[in-house]
Amino acid sequence: MEWLAARGEGRDTFTYGELHDFAVAGERLPLKDRVKGIWKPAGFSAALSITTTFRPPGAEKPYEDDVSGDLSGDMLLRYKWDGADPEAATNRSLRAAMQYRAPLIWFRGIAKGRFEPCFPIYVVGEDHQQQEFIVSLLVVEDAVDPAAAEYDRRYRNREVLQRLHQAAFRREVLGAYRNRCAVCNLGHPQLLDAAHIVPDRDDDGIPSVVNGIALCKLHHAAFDARLLGIRPDLVVQVKPDLLIEFDGQMVRYAFQEIDGKKVAVPRETSRRPRRDLLEIAWGRFQGS
Ligand SMILES: [Zn+2]
Repeated sequence: MEWLAARGEGRDTFTYGELHDFAVAGERLPLKDRVKGIWKPAGFSAALSITTTFRPPGAEKPYEDDVSGDLSGDMLLRYKWDGADPEAATNRSLRAAMQYRAPLIWFRGIAKGRFEPCFPIYVVGEDHQQQEFIVSLLVVEDAVDPAAAEYDRRYRNREVLQRLHQAAFRREVLGAYRNRCAVCNLGHPQLLDAAHIVPDRDDDGIPSVVNGIALCKLHHAAFDARLLGIRPDLVVQVKPDLLIEFDGQMVRYAFQEIDGKKVAVPRETSRRPRRDLLEIAWGRFQGS
């Protein structure tokens, strides 16, 4: 990205050849693939760049990538999966970039064989229904004091990223669970949260639907307080002190009657909670 920024002084487009022949410390490291839109160099654990192909005005686009301004006016790019298989190596590499919150380069085809780079960009969500990734294009404004500007940029980017991640995560999780609490089936979105199975402050707390579960406010709070646990085989277990309480209807309906029931998970296997994450949360529930 530094190289692109330095080379880009005074001009803003690159030919495919320049991007293909890029080398670092004497080793060739192509910055984009000739054919594929999603590019992960050998040895990288996540994608490095995405490309949208130039099509003359009026020509049909190969992918319907499109920049939109939803999610409170932030510039977002919706980028199609490579094919229809969510587990394709290319799609996995872009998902990895989302999970690591790694910066990427977007090469926008602006003429035949010419690309305009935009960076850093971040993958902030995924829309399984539409089979696309949601990419945030953060605009950085210059300020008078470069040091303050840098601090402000980092701080704001972190805040914006956080917010985008949360909004995308909520939409993805509630969509997967069809707007219902996985424990009690309550179906009012205003009373639902996208709960993290492993909290997002943890390294394993990835902002992905496989680390999420839709819970109503009460069951979310109970889950976070470890009064309610979800076994790796998806059976609900309630803390014994709540099970032996004889204090009214609420405890009975909200906790005693759900003990031993299975949580409702999405039909699509790829959107269900990941077992290793459930095991981490279950271990903590048991240890508390
Ligand atoms: Zn509930």
